[in-house]
Amino acid sequence: MLNIQSEAQRCLQCKIPRCQKGCPIQTDIPKAIALFKLGKLQEAAQMLFDNNPLSLICAIVCDHDKQCEGHCVKGIKESPVEWGSIEHFISDTYLERVQVEKAEPTGKHVAVIGAGPAGMAAAIELAKLGHEVTVFEEQSEIGGMLRYGIPEFRLPKSILDRYFKKMKSLGIKFRLHTAVGNSITIEDMLRDGYDAVLIASGLWRAQALHVQGETLPNVCYGIHYLASPESFEIGNRLAVIGTGNTAIDVARTALHNGVSYVTLYARRTQSNADPKERELALLEGAQFKSGMQISKITDEGPMFKTVHLDENGQIVSVEEEEVLEPADFTIIAASQGPMSKLINTTTGLEGNERGLLKVDENQTTVPGVFGAGDVVYGGRTVVEAVADAKKAVFQMNEYLKNK
Ligand SMILES: Cc1cc2nc3c(=O)[nH]c(=O)nc-3n(C[C@H](O)[C@H](O)[C@H](O)COP(=O)(O)OP(=O)(O)OC[C@H]3O[C@@H](n4cnc5c(N)ncnc54)[C@H](O)[C@@H]3O)c2cc1C
Repeated sequence: MLNIQSEAQRCLQCKIPRCQKGCPIQTDIPKAIALFKLGKLQEAAQMLFDNNPLSLICAIVCDHDKQCEGHCVKGIKESPVEWGSIEHFISDTYLERVQVEKAEPTGKHVAVIGAGPAGMAAAIELAKLGHEVTVFEEQSEIGGMLRYGIPEFRLPKSILDRYFKKMKSLGIKFRLHTAVGNSITIEDMLRDGYDAVLIASGLWRAQALHVQGETLPNVCYGIHYLASPESFEIGNRLAVIGTGNTAIDVARTALHNGVSYVTLYARRTQSNADPKERELALLEGAQFKSGMQISKITDEGPMFKTVHLDENGQIVSVEEEEVLEPADFTIIAASQGPMSKLINTTTGLEGNERGLLKVDENQTTVPGVFGAGDVVYGGRTVVEAVADAKKAVFQMNEYLKNK
């Protein structure tokens, strides 16, 4: 028996499924497993896609330990049912065969800015409702952080190519290489007859540390390195500033590309990174050092001040002395914020103090312009971006019906 089959057999078909509650998009896991056990894979795949068009991607990149599997009753005394593997198998096998039912054409035109998970999911859902959808994407290919952030060894890019094909088969149009807010603006789109616009532009501005040496040639930001690791000559000894998920992806990518020594530095001991990813990074040879506060970056590597922490991980004091950690290259993986070009070029579009879009039920401060995903609430997860996109599509559809 295959592992996924024996895992499906372990499912207790709970009346009140905690796994479903733990899933940000409320996937009906017991029902999908029941269909799987009956051999009704097409039906299971259909159900999964209808609820979450990016189920194949979520099956791979979701933090299952925190979400569905982390809530599985089986996990209390033994290991949880490996739902992620079952979902992966079903969604991967049936992605092309899933039927997407489209409503009668509404005659409404909708623009989606950004082809990350929020924009992809929204475009599919809007097309299902019968709207004409055009996706505007700054990069040359779709996927957003799925393509330009998450490394190939965690999420094969060929999956995004399959989605691109599927989306085009639904009649969705794409304008790639088009950054809205440069040559064309949201106001131009409204002039050209788009009845509603969804902003799903994510967080693409790397957070600077504002330390001396940050502009040196042997320094870059994590998201830029991950977008194109082959463009950087990082030598044999890499320092990564940060220990979050992006920092770990940077470290693992560098190790996969042959860098011998990779060290990740953090001020504190706790990290919000996925423990499994951290474990993998350790196995692959990364080193983690905590209690290190970056003070400057030099040609020879970053310099740190030692931080003393109490038993709760709180900072007690910082030493004045600076210590050099020799490195050929330093990558800063602190965090990301939104670009400002959409807010700067759209009259009335407001952001908060972090530059995130101000919204009320996904409606921005400009009528007919909506927001979804990371650009609204800050950096979260793929499944949350998809769930938010579904909410935004509901609001957009109500708006379009009344327009
Ligand atoms: C390195 C890294 C690893 C991650 N790993 C995971 C993981 O394993 N699991 C998980 O669940 N989450 C992960 N995340 C988080 C997840 O990727 C994001 O929460 C998710 O991608 C947000 O989706 P989004 O569609 O809102 O934004 P994005 O994915 O950022 O997509 C936004 C899109 O908009 C485009 N765009 C931006 N501005 C414009 C413009 N003006 N005009 C046209 N197009 C524009 C961008 O090019 C991009 O394609 C990771 C994030 C990073 C950075």
